[in-house]
Amino acid sequence: MATIAVLGAGYAGMRAVKRLIHEKVDARIVLVNDHPYHYESTQLHEIAAGNKEPADITFDIREAVPDKVDVVIDTVERIDREHGQVMLKNGEPLAYDYLVNALGFESETFGIPGAEENSLSFNNIDSAMAVREHMEKALANYATSHDENDLHIVVCGAGFTGIELLGELAWRMPQLAKGYELPEDLIKLICIEASPKVLGMLPESLATWALDYLTGKGIAMHTGTAITEVRPGVVVAGGQEFHANTIIWTTGVRGSRVICDSGYEQRRNRVMVQEDLSVKDHPNEFLVGDVSAVPDVQTGRPYPTTAQISIAQADVVAANIAARLTGHEPHKFVFKSVGTVCSLGPHAGVAQIDMMGHWKLKGRKVGMVKRLVNDRSVLELAHVKEMLESN
Ligand SMILES: Cc1cc2nc3c(=O)[nH]c(=O)nc-3n(C[C@H](O)[C@H](O)[C@H](O)COP(=O)(O)OP(=O)(O)OC[C@H]3O[C@@H](n4cnc5c(N)ncnc54)[C@H](O)[C@@H]3O)c2cc1C
Repeated sequence: MATIAVLGAGYAGMRAVKRLIHEKVDARIVLVNDHPYHYESTQLHEIAAGNKEPADITFDIREAVPDKVDVVIDTVERIDREHGQVMLKNGEPLAYDYLVNALGFESETFGIPGAEENSLSFNNIDSAMAVREHMEKALANYATSHDENDLHIVVCGAGFTGIELLGELAWRMPQLAKGYELPEDLIKLICIEASPKVLGMLPESLATWALDYLTGKGIAMHTGTAITEVRPGVVVAGGQEFHANTIIWTTGVRGSRVICDSGYEQRRNRVMVQEDLSVKDHPNEFLVGDVSAVPDVQTGRPYPTTAQISIAQADVVAANIAARLTGHEPHKFVFKSVGTVCSLGPHAGVAQIDMMGHWKLKGRKVGMVKRLVNDRSVLELAHVKEMLESN
């Protein structure tokens, strides 16, 4: 019996497993993940800010997949593609006939000096909790240090993650100020972004609304300000120094380092995949989610990496493995985005919905849209457990 190794239990990996079962593939399915739980990456900023707890966005993988799926909790170190084996940190190498690589994203610092060492980033529960703990420790420290930099938080980057994090922090900060008895007028939330615009993936009117909303909450938004260096407690950008004892890095993501360590032809640890989502000259290897790059035929550029495209890819990959196993032709992957929702804290946001027409939404109703979207999995952006149980 063939073995299908699915690496990573994020959106792409979990969905691939679900669809492989739905396809009734005659194969052994092995799901490898470094934690025993799935976490919803789309909500990590809420953990970092302290508005949600890990239990709110995680669930046990073993409980969510059928018993016939072998779940291996281990870290993938490398893929020996020549011999068809996944090299694990603790266990024996895992031999595969088909590979679904869904190892997800890491933070990207673009080689900016000091960024890696002197800022905090988050791509999983542990690192999101580390951001929260660092920030709260600095705030608590002010009582004895009286160092105003303990009350300064710099968010580097005003893309999706940076803006969503700032929205959460704006909502959380008054509670923290009260809890730690801090002088609210000395707390500073600062955002630094190289591009003249925030939220480059949204229409100008929505991006401007988000910018005005955050500015209205007292956040200092420095757009068009390129970061050139990060030192301990200092971000150097646009010829100025921004001092803060909490520096959070959100300027972008790259794919898992396992990609470059396994000899793939890649850019920022993303592999340009074929129309059927396999790797060139390796028809049994598939890449899904943030480790893959899928060209948009209209622009020629890869689609932005999102949970939404990850899930859509996983469906096609499962169908294509089922096709290969039964001697049928694989399908081509075609993507149609159904929209982008950017929350600005629990009760506001901006959204472009491309479903049943084109809608631009802003304000409180977006909070409702996001909840509706997430709870019902209409856009399949989140709540994987429900997604796994549906259809
Ligand atoms: C703050 C934030 C908000 C976002 N909001 C949205 C949104 O609203 N809508 C949207 O569509 N997208 C959103 N995104 C993007 C989205 O989260 C990603 O595109 C999506 O998570 C990619 O899914 P994935 O399955 O490829 O990877 P991931 O979700 O990163 O999952 C990868 C899995 O692999 C595991 N893993 C990683 N390395 C190893 C290893 N070496 N060995 C074993 N296991 C490993 C991880 O633990 C994880 O379980 C957001 C991202 C962030 C950071």
